[in-house]
Amino acid sequence: MDTLVPVTIIAGFLGSGKTTLINHLLTEVGGKQRLAIVKNEIGDVSVDSRIIRGKNIVMKELLNGCVCCTLVGGLEESLKELVETVKPERIIVEASGAANPAILAVNIDRFGFVKRDLIVVVIDVVNFEGYRDKTMVGRLQHKFTDLVVLNRVGEVSEEVIDRVLDDVYEFRPGIPVIRSETGRVDPQILFGFTGKSTEITLTDDEIKHSHHHLEQDRIEVFSFRQDRPLDTSCVERVLNSLSENYLRVKGFVWCNDGSYYLVNFVCGRWEMERVEDSSGADMDSFEARADFPLQSASDQTTRSVSKTELAFIGIGIGTGKRVIEKRLNTCCLK
Ligand SMILES: [Zn+2]
Repeated sequence: MDTLVPVTIIAGFLGSGKTTLINHLLTEVGGKQRLAIVKNEIGDVSVDSRIIRGKNIVMKELLNGCVCCTLVGGLEESLKELVETVKPERIIVEASGAANPAILAVNIDRFGFVKRDLIVVVIDVVNFEGYRDKTMVGRLQHKFTDLVVLNRVGEVSEEVIDRVLDDVYEFRPGIPVIRSETGRVDPQILFGFTGKSTEITLTDDEIKHSHHHLEQDRIEVFSFRQDRPLDTSCVERVLNSLSENYLRVKGFVWCNDGSYYLVNFVCGRWEMERVEDSSGADMDSFEARADFPLQSASDQTTRSVSKTELAFIGIGIGTGKRVIEKRLNTCCLK
C-alpha cells in the first residue's frame, strides 16, 4: 500500500486566484481532513498567515523567492518537517505566481518521501492574454498540468474563453478544464484523483531556462513597510498610478481609520478589503486560536511585522522602488 503523503500542486500566474481557490478548499475540507499547506510568495511579505485560518490546517510559508528554483531546498525541508511532525493526510503546495509547475513537480518527484498528486493550474481568463505574452512563465505554466481551472469566466465573452482554451489545448489536447467564477472547485475533483501522475519530460532548454527564469522574465520584487498610519485615498491614488509593468501588489495597509486593509492588485485592477487581526501584534493570539499552530519557515520568523507591508511584483520594476516608497510615505499622516 502506498503510504506516502500526497502533494497537490496549485500553480497559476500572479493574481490568477490560487489563494481564493485554496481558501474555498480549506473551508470545505479543513474540518474533515488533516491538511498542510506550503505557500510560496515571491516577495518577502507574509499575507496569508495573517488571514488563513481553519481547523486541522498547518501552514508553512516560503517567502522571498520561487519554489521551483531559488527555494527548492526550503521546500524539501518544509515538506519533510510536515511529514515527520504533523503527519498530514495531504499537503497542498501553492506555488508563487512566477513558478513553473513542471519544474516544481520534477523536484517533488526527486524528493522521494512524498507522492506527487494533481498539478492544478489556475488561469485568470480576464488577464490571461495580457500576461501570457509578457513572460515566458505565463506561457509555460499550463504546459504540464493535470487539470486547468479557468477562473472568472463570468467576466469575459465566450470568444475570449475559446481563445484561452485554444492555448491550453495546444499544449495538452483533451486536458480536463473546469470553469469557475470565483475559484470555487469541488474538492472531490481535486483530491479524488486516483490515476497515474503526468509524466513530465523537459527539454534541455527548459531545464536551463528554469534556473534563471525570474531573471529571464525580468520579474522583480520590492516591498514597502511603514508603521505609521496611511491615508486611504492617497494609497488608492498610488495604486491607480502604477504602470502596466506592475503585475501584482499584495499585502496590508494600516489606514487612518484605524483599520487594516488587504490590498489585492492584479494587472491594473485592485481592491482594498477591510480585514481583522492583521497586525503583527495580533499574531500571537491568532496562532493560539488555530488548532495547530500556524508556522512560518524557521528562518523567516525573526523579522518583525510592520503594520503596513506591501509587496510589489512586476516586470523590470526594481528601479521604481524609490519613487513608490516616496509617494507612499507622503501618504503617512502627520
Ligand atoms: Zn522558480
